[in-house]
Order: sequence, then C-alpha cells, then structure tokens
Amino acid sequence: MRTRIYPLALGKIIKHTLIDPNNEVAGLLVGKYINKSDVLEIWDAITGDQKSTPGFVYLHEDTIAQAAEWILRNRPGLYIVGWYHSHPGFSIFLSAIDLETQKRYQMFYPKAVALVVDPLKYSQSGRLSDLKFSVFRINKRGEVVRVPMSIGIQRHKLLESTLKGIETMELKYIDTGRDIDEYEIPVEDDLEEGRISSPLSSMVNRFNKLRKFKDKFIH
Ligand SMILES: [Zn+2]
Repeated sequence: MRTRIYPLALGKIIKHTLIDPNNEVAGLLVGKYINKSDVLEIWDAITGDQKSTPGFVYLHEDTIAQAAEWILRNRPGLYIVGWYHSHPGFSIFLSAIDLETQKRYQMFYPKAVALVVDPLKYSQSGRLSDLKFSVFRINKRGEVVRVPMSIGIQRHKLLESTLKGIETMELKYIDTGRDIDEYEIPVEDDLEEGRISSPLSSMVNRFNKLRKFKDKFIH
C-alpha cells in the first residue's frame, strides 16, 4: 500500500504542528482507500480536544467520535483513515505508546496509517529540508513499516480536496488599524485629468475590490 496526501491536508497538519512546535499535537486524517491501485488517499485533516505534553499526546475519544459524525454529515464518501501527531525535536518513528494507538486505529480501520511530523527544526530555521514527516503502519507480522508517500497531483481530486478544505481554512487578513471607510476614493474626474498616476488608480481598483471582499467575509 502507498499513501497519497493532498496539499491542503498536508498544509493543515504542518500548520497545526507549528502552532505549538514544542509540544506534541495530534489530529485525524480524512480520506479514502482506492482498492484498484492500493492507495490510501488523505484529502483533509481535522483536529479537536486533546491532552498534550512535550512527549505525549492523547486525542480524546469524544473528539474522534464527533469527528466521525462530522465527516459522515459533511464529507460523504470520506472516512477517518488514520491520525497524525508531532514529535517536536525527537525525530520520526512510532513510540511504544504510538504503536498501541496505531493498533487501535487499525482495528477500527485496517488500512489506517500514522503520520508523524517533527516541526521543531523547521520552526527555528524555516528551511524546507528541516521539515521531517513520514507515514507508518503495522504490517501483518506486527512490524512497524514506513508507507511510501506521494503528494497528490490528480487534477480533479486536487481541486475537490482544496475547495472542501477551504471551508475550514483561515485566511490571512492584513489589518491596517484604520477605519476602511476613511480612505478617500478618487473620483472619475481626477483620473481623467491625470492627477492620479496609473499605478495608483490600479491600486485603487484593487482596493475597491478588496473592500467588497471585506464586506462579504469579515464580520
Ligand atoms: Zn509519538
């Protein structure tokens, strides 16, 4: 079996681990298994109530149950296909406790995988090569094996997973601290008489669009 993870899912996981790079954080992988190609696809990631220390993380059972309900209602055709957690600064492997957790996930869903991320070095250096992550599962002989992972590029699924993922993604908003209605919008005459340079007028156009955007989305 291989795994294929779509970019927004991976982005959410990494974002979550970077919110608290010194403590373990955990969440659930949402996706589906493609029988024909023996690929486990990870489309999205969600998280919830958990207990965390620098060396241990526990996702509450109610979190998992409520997540399963949410997926059933909001993501028909997708399932909880595993879990992710971070190992801040102690490399990528499954600990003895992780192994027990993974066994439970595989009992619940035989194809389930465990994705482990170590975000610490990356959070300090910002270098992509410092960001380590891998996917594991337990094979039939009870051994932990690394599952080959690729980042999804199938056009339709990439688009669908991105659009669905957007619903639960935050957008960066630049707050200038000014009341946006105080900005003076140049009138047509100024533009025609050349009092406004063209880069500025194109900026004003963009600003007007942004204001509409803000009215629509920011409350
Ligand atoms: Zn662990």
